Order: sequence, then structure tokens, then C-alpha cells
Amino acid sequence: MIVHGGVFMAKKIIVTGGAGYIGSHTSVALQESGFDVVVFDNLSNSNISSLDGVAKITGTRPEFINVDCADFSALRSAFMLHRDAVGVIHFAAFKAVGESVANPTMYYRNNLNGLINVLDLMREFEIPNLVFSSSATVYGTPAVLPVTEQTPLQPATSPYGGTKVMGENIIRDTVHAYPQMHATLLRYFNPIGAHPSGLIGELPNGVPNNLMPYITQTAARIRPVLNVFGDDYDTPDGFCVRDYIDVNDLARAHVAALNYMLSGGDGVSVFNLGTGRGLSVMELVRGFESATGVPVPYKIAPRRAGDVPAIWADASLAERVLKWRADTPLSETLASTWRWQKNQSN
Ligand code: NAD
Ligand code: UDP
Repeated sequence: MIVHGGVFMAKKIIVTGGAGYIGSHTSVALQESGFDVVVFDNLSNSNISSLDGVAKITGTRPEFINVDCADFSALRSAFMLHRDAVGVIHFAAFKAVGESVANPTMYYRNNLNGLINVLDLMREFEIPNLVFSSSATVYGTPAVLPVTEQTPLQPATSPYGGTKVMGENIIRDTVHAYPQMHATLLRYFNPIGAHPSGLIGELPNGVPNNLMPYITQTAARIRPVLNVFGDDYDTPDGFCVRDYIDVNDLARAHVAALNYMLSGGDGVSVFNLGTGRGLSVMELVRGFESATGVPVPYKIAPRRAGDVPAIWADASLAERVLKWRADTPLSETLASTWRWQKNQSN
């Protein structure tokens, strides 16, 4: 809280990409923690209805500005209106790996120009705290599991991954040059799930690339069959292993990161956000079936190019420093995802 003339004012946070999947859940978590949320989004991969969901869940509709973060002068006008913000959470980016390979300049332009504009405007308007959406993709194929924040980064295998590696470096250089700025780089593992209300969730465009929405759309009979990419990996059951983290847990981590910076954490901090547990594709499919009672027809398909056989997080640093842990049981995550999918189908 900030006190102005005896009146308590909630601390304001700018959430770029706040109409999207992780941004909408984070807007809920921020509002539930007493922050005042302003969403900057150009709706290029989201629908404004997600903010209706946020309003229904929290009783407050975040202020919304339709703005392209890659357009400096438009973004500057939006920042000018909210120069009293104490922090920015920067989600706004394109995120489809395959699309980034097909159209790299579109990805570099959107993701890097957006970030650079945000950094320049934070400096101009003296907004000190940034939370950045990074990704486990920065670790490539790790030699040792689980990965810690000290695990060496590897050259990106896609332009999308490149924008995360470069984004982290751009932020480090900027904070180094302007020590009044602080940043937290959050490396997400595999976010899945929806809000338990079923009012907000992931809205993939067209055919999903990611496993979780493909499972729910197959269960809902929108897709005939799930292709399981590869069953001959050098993993316990032959299927790829990932660290699937509930999106509501992930959302809470952003609030923890902001509070950490607001209470004195400075410089650049980096945290893995995962559960610390690896699950195979088949374990997730079976988990979904037992949490919902709904079968998921699948067939074994060839390996997908570029897939890492196994990766999961050591997230103990976030637990120690941010006092945060991913603790939603998988069965609850899968039940919420299904509730959201059924609401969509209806
Ligand atoms: P999303 O596509 O649902 O949300 C991104 C939001 O940003 C969308 O609402 C989109 O309209 C908006 N946006 C994109 N470019 C913009 C621009 N130039 N100006 C304004 N708004 C813009 O994606 P998400 O899954 O919520 O991902 C959020 C962030 O987390 C992204 O940076 C993504 O790269 C990162 N991330 C996601 C995952 C994942 O699996 N979902 C994993 C690791 C990292
Ligand atoms: N996967 C799959 N079928 C699909 C989509 C994904 O078998 O239709 C597998 C994919 O090979 C990987 C895991 O599910 O092993 C997670 O993939 P996703 O694209 O969700 O996330 P990634 O870890 O690649 O970012």
C-alpha cells in the first residue's frame, strides 16, 4: 500500500500480455494480493473476454489498454498514463516455436522490440521493477538433471528460444547500466491448467502445439486422436519427460517475485519455476484420464524434431528466496483444465 494524503492506494502493476493465458491468471493473483493491475495487450493471441473472467473471479476488472508493445510511441502514451506504477510484468510475446522457425523476423521484431521499449520506458518513467517471462528452453538439452539456475545455458534451437536468451541478456545489460532498475527472470517449465473456477484458461489458436490443450481437445472429441511424439526415448517409460506446473502456482510466483523486489531484492535475480518433478507424456495422459474419467485416444507417432528427451526443474531457489512452491496437486490441475475445456465447448 502507498499512502497519499491519508488515503491508502494499492500499488499499481503494469501487466503486458495480461489478457493472455499466464497473464490473466497472474492478474487474478495480483488483484487477490491487493495490487492494482493495468493490462497492456494488443490481443494478437488472446481475447478480451479473459478480463471478464478475471473480473468475475476477483470482483475487479483490470484497466485495459489495447496497445502494441513493439510500437514505441503508442506504448509511451500508455506508460505516461500509468507512470505511478511500481513494477512491470512483461508477458507480451509471441510463443509458437514452429511459427518462429518459419517467420523469424516477426518473432525477433515483436519479442525483442517489445522488451526494449518496455525497458526504455521503465527507465524514462522511473518504474524500477521488472518481472520477465523466460523459459526452460534456455537450458536446451541439459547434461545433468534436474536443472538449477546455474546449469549452463545453451544456444537457442529456435528464434523463439533466441528471443528468451537474448531477452535475458538485454535485461542484464540494462540493469547493469542503470542500477536503480531491478529485474527478476522467471524460467517457466511447462505451464498447464486453468483457474479452478473454469472462467479463465488457455485459448490456443487453431490446432494446439502443446500437449495439454491437445489432450483436452482430444478428450472433448474436437480432435480424433492425440499423437504421442516418440516412445523410444532413453527415459524410464520411453516417453519424453517434462515438468508440468499449474498456471495458478506460476501466477503466485510472479506476486512473490514482485514482493521480493519491493522489499529490497535488487539487481537481476533468476528463478526456475517448476514442480521439481518430471512426468512423462504417458503419465500425463493417464493422469488426465484418472482425474476426469474421460478417455484420451492416442497413437504413437514419430519423434517431433527438436524435442528434448527429458527436463525438469530444481526449483529450490525459489522456495528458499521467494518462499514459493508449486503445491497444487496434479489431479486438481487436470480437473480444472477439463472444467475450462468443457466451458469452452459449451
Ligand atoms: P499468450 O499468447 O497466451 O499471452 C501472451 C499475450 O501477449 C497475449 O495476450 C498476446 O495478445 C499479447 N501480445 C503478444 N505480443 C504483443 C505485443 N507486441 N503487444 C502487446 N501484447 C502482445 O502466452 P502465455 O502462454 O500466456 O505466455 C506468456 C509469456 O510466457 C510469453 O512471454 C511466453 O513466451 C512465456 N512463456 C510461456 C510458456 C508457455 O508454455 N505458455 C512457457 C515459457 C514461457
Ligand atoms: N507432445 C506430444 N503430442 C503433442 C504435443 C506434445 O506427444 O501433440 C509431447 C512433446 O513431444 C513433448 C511434450 O509433449 O515431449 C511437451 O510438449 P509441449 O509442446 O507441450 O511443450 P515443450 O516442452 O515442447 O515446450
